[in-house]
Amino acid sequence: MCIDVEGRHIEGREGATMVQVPVTDGVFTWPSDHPQLIGSRCVTCGNHMFPVQQGCPKCTGAETEEVLLGRRGTLWTWTVQGFPPKAPPYAGDVDPKTFQAFGVGYVELPGQLKIESRLTEADPEKLKIGMEMEMVIVPLSTDAHGNEVVTFAFAPVA
Ligand SMILES: [Zn+2]
Repeated sequence: MCIDVEGRHIEGREGATMVQVPVTDGVFTWPSDHPQLIGSRCVTCGNHMFPVQQGCPKCTGAETEEVLLGRRGTLWTWTVQGFPPKAPPYAGDVDPKTFQAFGVGYVELPGQLKIESRLTEADPEKLKIGMEMEMVIVPLSTDAHGNEVVTFAFAPVA
């Protein structure tokens, strides 16, 4: 199987092209060569929210605008998800036999907010608070139509 770095299509085993679909609509820009998370910003106090919210929990202002969030940030805290999360809402592999541990963390996007995110790295030796992280799109599962379901994650910047 070959993943096209540009991102939208991958070659199936028989050479068929599968489409990559986001796990949830409206969470990140897709398709895109440089996907960004979609959040909202309070017009009154400037507070950032993710995912998009209609009202501001900080000042209770009702006016928010959609903003694209930064693709890079720093790792604020992290843990490793060593067993399958509860599904739903989790849409990935929950079979304990094939489940692969993954990192989960908060990534602080400068001047915006902290995002709770899946991490591409699950090795505690390779995760350090304060390290630079970049948003990427990763495969999560395959849907009933044979499309590859993708979600966002943060990867350590090499
Ligand atoms: Zn506000």
